[in-house]
Amino acid sequence: MNSQRSNLASTLHSLDGRSYGNYKQIRGRYEFGPVTVFIDRVQVDPFASPSKVRIRINRAEAGFPTDITTDRADRIAASDFLFRVGDSFLHRNDRRSIILGRPGQEVLERTNVVIDDEGFEARLLVNLPARGRRILGHQAADILTRDLPELAETMFVHANLRADDLYDHVQLYRDQLELQNHLGEEGLLAFIGNGAILPRRSGDSDLPMESNAVAFTSPSSLEHTVTLSSGRSLTGMAIPRGVTVIVGGGYHGKSTILRALERGVYPHVAGDGREWVITEPSATSIRAEDGRAVTGDDISPFINNLPSGTDTRSFTTTNASGSTSQAANLVEAVEVGARSLLIDEDTSATNFMIRDDRMRALIPADREPITPFVDRIRPLFTRRGVSTVLVAGGSSAFFEVADHVIALDAYVPQEVTEKAHELVGVKSADDTGEVFTTPQPRVPTAKALHPSSKTKSAKAKGLGQVQFGKAFIDLSAVSQLVDPQQTTGIAEALEYMAEIFEGQTSLTEALAEVEDMLDAQGVDGLTGNRDHPGHVARPRAQEIAAALNRFRGLHLVE
Ligand code: ADP
Ligand code: MG
Repeated sequence: MNSQRSNLASTLHSLDGRSYGNYKQIRGRYEFGPVTVFIDRVQVDPFASPSKVRIRINRAEAGFPTDITTDRADRIAASDFLFRVGDSFLHRNDRRSIILGRPGQEVLERTNVVIDDEGFEARLLVNLPARGRRILGHQAADILTRDLPELAETMFVHANLRADDLYDHVQLYRDQLELQNHLGEEGLLAFIGNGAILPRRSGDSDLPMESNAVAFTSPSSLEHTVTLSSGRSLTGMAIPRGVTVIVGGGYHGKSTILRALERGVYPHVAGDGREWVITEPSATSIRAEDGRAVTGDDISPFINNLPSGTDTRSFTTTNASGSTSQAANLVEAVEVGARSLLIDEDTSATNFMIRDDRMRALIPADREPITPFVDRIRPLFTRRGVSTVLVAGGSSAFFEVADHVIALDAYVPQEVTEKAHELVGVKSADDTGEVFTTPQPRVPTAKALHPSSKTKSAKAKGLGQVQFGKAFIDLSAVSQLVDPQQTTGIAEALEYMAEIFEGQTSLTEALAEVEDMLDAQGVDGLTGNRDHPGHVARPRAQEIAAALNRFRGLHLVE
């Protein structure tokens, strides 16, 4: 046993039975052969948050081929692979004191496992063992001087891995990104490969449905084949930019398709069933969310002439209605650059979406503040270049504004655009009104994210909530937030942006700055490149904006 390892082990053995606080002396850096162990932070008592530890192996010892560990995207995919290797090692061997974080079905850029120019590193949380408040030194020695190096060698020594699986994992990710780029080049919004399995096992499982799932098949009219530079050829349904309406009877799989498109902004792992469901990366799900706060949004394209006389070009409320919240969600998504919107009738406010002819006759236009989305969906595309995919099984109102109508019958899609257009006697639906004039940029005040009540750093509370000072930001309606580590990333991003806002920088400018920094430095940049950043995944700008927009303390420069 090398000397640093035996020294740490004997220190821990000698600490056995002593009071917990004595653990603090093991802080430091240890070389165990090829593995370096950094004990960055030692918890003060057994119930405090776990200790922060890193394990690292240099490139020379790791022995990875450089062709899959050099390029930025390759590193993200390869780190994700190693993350999964580490996760299954820990579970297989029941190493419960060591926390690496849990991967989901998506491949996300994270801080848990990183590959840099020098080597490979995992950031871990370790619960240092205790009985009552006494150190369990022999167990601690096993965890730190045996389990950690074993984990490092399992993940980071190339000879210990299945090289083909690693290569396939990286190649799949490359192909998914290439397909996503291809969508942009071809004016497509999304692609769903033939054979894809869209339904999930249950409402609380993101794994594919096991039996009885009907594999996806494209309608022939929308079928598209693409051959990627890897030689992989894919055939499936291509959804063009513009307006696409998905119809069909209840329970025929409409929402399931839309959900898959929402998730398609992220690449999925092999075996997920949604590997070849790829959506353009800015696509944003829009829903009603009554009760949310809104600060200074220009919702005037949808809501005007409120009986209260409120100016809806800069609309603020602490408690939005269904329709107002959906309008706010939409204009905010477009503000941060969403080029497509994904909307499901199940989660929409009816009065935001449509108004039928009899209602239009009964209530004069000047007495109705809401201009329904059906009247805005075309100018949104023709004037602002924002496409929509909409699930609407209950109304024909969208037929005449749709470029494509797709009908689902027992989960099988057919294109029915001609028939739908015939039914409504197609008119040119182009609304020429200048309703989407560029709104005033929203500029937070210098103090907006520095409230005096805020004494601690922003913190994620599970997937759907961020604590910011005394305020709680509710993200439970933000459906494209998929991993609690992204929520942690949002909390970090809010801290980062707090330093940007000085009363001149707009919300969109600050977000662009965050994105540029993330592209240049990776997720570690979000945490100020501190030694041990914890477990953080990269959120999209859309979801960071969603948090900022829901923050009840957001104040704008007038
Ligand atoms: P809709 O929105 O049309 O009412 P959903 O998308 O909610 O329908 O789907 C209804 C049910 O059918 C869900 O339980 C879903 O898991 C299941 N389902 C959806 N697509 C498929 C499919 N391709 N194969 C098998 N079951 C499916
Ligand atoms: Mg539905």
